[in-house]
Amino acid sequence: MDLRESPEDVAFRGEVREFVATHLPPEIRERVLGFRRVPREDYVTWQRILHQRGWGAPGWPREFGGTGWTARQRSIFEEECYTGGAPRQMPFGLSMVAPVIMKFGTPAQREHYLPRILDFRDWWCQGYSEPGAGSDLASLKTRAERRGDVYVLNGQKTWTSFAHYANMIFCLVRTRAEGKPQQGISFLLIDMKTPGLRVRPIKTLDQGADVNEVFLDDVEVPVANLVGEEDRGWTIAKYLLGHERTNIAGIGMCKRLLSRLKALAAGETRRGRPLLEDPRFREKVARIEIQVLSHEWSLMRVISLEQAGRDVSTEASMLKIRGSEIQQHLGALLMECAGPHALHYSPEWLETGHGEEMPGGAHLAGLAAQYFDLRKVAIYGGTNEVQRNIIARAVVGL
Ligand SMILES: Cc1cc2nc3c(=O)[nH]c(=O)nc-3n(C[C@H](O)[C@H](O)[C@H](O)COP(=O)(O)OP(=O)(O)OC[C@H]3O[C@@H](n4cnc5c(N)ncnc54)[C@H](O)[C@@H]3O)c2cc1C
Repeated sequence: MDLRESPEDVAFRGEVREFVATHLPPEIRERVLGFRRVPREDYVTWQRILHQRGWGAPGWPREFGGTGWTARQRSIFEEECYTGGAPRQMPFGLSMVAPVIMKFGTPAQREHYLPRILDFRDWWCQGYSEPGAGSDLASLKTRAERRGDVYVLNGQKTWTSFAHYANMIFCLVRTRAEGKPQQGISFLLIDMKTPGLRVRPIKTLDQGADVNEVFLDDVEVPVANLVGEEDRGWTIAKYLLGHERTNIAGIGMCKRLLSRLKALAAGETRRGRPLLEDPRFREKVARIEIQVLSHEWSLMRVISLEQAGRDVSTEASMLKIRGSEIQQHLGALLMECAGPHALHYSPEWLETGHGEEMPGGAHLAGLAAQYFDLRKVAIYGGTNEVQRNIIARAVVGL
């Protein structure tokens, strides 16, 4: 592929930049760029604005209402949205369950669910992990017993991101206890309002509660909500994980953190001079920028291969490791920029944008929370250690 930006790409970048600048509500931009907590309505509002413009699903093929964009256009779009301060497009519906429904779903499932994902009538969450089944996902125990035209579910999911916002959950469940663990798993689509389903928040290090436990007690799910064949959900689970990992590569997030780093380093001073003029700090910024750019090109290569029909699951593992490491490194550099002022931490400010006076200025208030929040990217979607095992087996042949 040709990685240079063509005149059309340059024009497209301008169009997206202009759209974000004129259509993103300023209060949302302020919350996002300040690393403050982003409420549910902000995500929904932005997704609907994009959908109205025809840009709701950058990664989907045109036939399902997507943009049909090239890898380059998707990358430009993501970069401009992130650096322009837009909330991320939640991946659980758009980039996780939607590709599964397109590939393995029935026509009725496609017709019902895909339009509802596009305009965010449905907020999806992911019910994979359980207490005792994280890296070793195939050992999951949530039982689905078939009784006539329903499955009856009993078990528990954990670390379920945004389950408290969601009205739909896709779950891996055990439909057969005998044989190889991978062969008795099925993939179900579940309405969160079904009786017997309960969500309990988990409070995290940054005082947030984006993750939850989900309890399932005699939850009845219509057999029509099975995706693919019974007991064959493992293939679907892996297909979805490939999409999840490409998403965690987070090139938009890398670019947002990088642009924030440059702005902060230009404004913060040490011994009367902007930090960005300190040759040692400047070198750190240059090094990480090179890493971000090479990561972006790798991501575009992988998206191009995927669009050409290649299986990119191993490449997705590589991108996941690299993207999460770069994001964490950028988070650490931002803390370094703020120096001791980064230590100050105000949950109240994160919620409301007001509160006690922040030493060093309010613009530094969200840095610590962002730093802590970024610990998760090396864990979710399959830990980086486990991704290294996958690469060792699939690429190095160990
Ligand atoms: C913020 C956050 C959000 C999440 N959101 C979701 C969600 O929405 N839905 C969902 O289903 N799950 C979610 N998860 C769960 C996530 O996928 C799991 O935490 C992850 O797969 C690891 O599983 P575990 O926590 O059980 O750790 P374990 O599997 O117990 O691993 C513990 C440690 O041992 C290491 N380890 C384990 N096995 C090996 C091995 N074979 N070789 C080398 N090292 C190994 C791991 O790398 C890790 O360091 C989320 C997790 C976090 C932290």
